[in-house]
Amino acid sequence: MKNQFKNSEKIRLSRFVLLALAGVLSFSSCKKSDELSRSADGTGIASKSQSKLLGIIVFPFGDYTINFKDDVPGGFSTAIRDQMVNTFFAVYPKLSNRFNTNAAKTVTIWMNPDFTGVAQAGGTQIEINPAYMSSHPKDVDVVVHEGMHIVQAYKGGVPGWLTEGIADYVRYKYGIYNDENGWKMQPYRPDQSYTAGYGTTATFLVWLEQHYSATIVDQLNTISRNGQYTSATWVNITGKTVDQLWSEYGQNPTITGLDVTTGAVLTVSRENGSGAGSTEGSLKLIDNSADTKFFIDSFPSGLTLKLTLPQLKIVTSYRLTSGNDFPDRDPKSWTLHGSNDNSNWTQLDSQTNQVFTSRKQEKTYSFSNLTAYKYYRISVSANNGSAGFQLAEWRVIKRPL
Ligand SMILES: [Zn+2]
Repeated sequence: MKNQFKNSEKIRLSRFVLLALAGVLSFSSCKKSDELSRSADGTGIASKSQSKLLGIIVFPFGDYTINFKDDVPGGFSTAIRDQMVNTFFAVYPKLSNRFNTNAAKTVTIWMNPDFTGVAQAGGTQIEINPAYMSSHPKDVDVVVHEGMHIVQAYKGGVPGWLTEGIADYVRYKYGIYNDENGWKMQPYRPDQSYTAGYGTTATFLVWLEQHYSATIVDQLNTISRNGQYTSATWVNITGKTVDQLWSEYGQNPTITGLDVTTGAVLTVSRENGSGAGSTEGSLKLIDNSADTKFFIDSFPSGLTLKLTLPQLKIVTSYRLTSGNDFPDRDPKSWTLHGSNDNSNWTQLDSQTNQVFTSRKQEKTYSFSNLTAYKYYRISVSANNGSAGFQLAEWRVIKRPL
């Protein structure tokens, strides 16, 4: 199904390149070269749609509106529709906030049974193949990729591979069901180039973000939105050409996975006496600060720390950070388990006789795992000898690719 998606987009990419070369189209590679409005506010699409087509359902959400055009005979699945709408509203405002605060507030999602690709975006409209969506109901993050195209609204001169690479980068960073669905980025391959677009370019962008500039995608996006992109852009940002950067990437293509702790709910089998939200309560364990810690004055062997993630994630590493004082309170031996029903647990990692050699020290533990879990649990069987227990931070990291 991934290939099907990619192939359909690649066909459009080729068409884009040809049209762009002809000077006809200078929008997004997913832009459909037809009669669709290119208005920036979306009102043209909505009014046109309402007068022309039946089955428009309006979903408002704060400042945003989706006009959902359902042209499926008998109606498209309302369950999948609602998941698409919810996913769009969960992500699109974040994309607008980060990449283009003037992005369209009203977007049309058109379920078009006559559309033979998977999905495409142009102007303020996302067009989706309803048969594909029905057979791939968990692939709703398609609206994240396509929604990014609406946010991008690039002027001419931006190569299609970069437009698509940024859209897949965004899906990787913001997509909700990627791990559950099996969607993933493309690892480095010596027989490919950054011009492959999609997951190949997206992974390259993540590598650049980790090795050159944490804001490189933001910079590329701004430059592209301003119509100022040239091949010199890479030199201006990194001091190197894109070919030099790709070559370096190939020599050490390792990237660090995404921290998916934010938004998780933590529960512990023994809480700090002053409560979870207190100065040394359990919430300090996931506040992303090594300067605060979770502390209990009485350590029970078998102490459990459990994270419930908002969505299933394929976690393949985690980081523990020691507290600011008293090394004997540090965890020494523990196991990590994953579960999807909070009842049956699969062991993912086991550590014994661990020593944190400094205070506020972050240690990373990696393991093999191919399963997306909703629950992750650490069971601490021993600390380093104190009556109490403390830990500054616990972060869970999804697989890099
Ligand atoms: Zn695309």
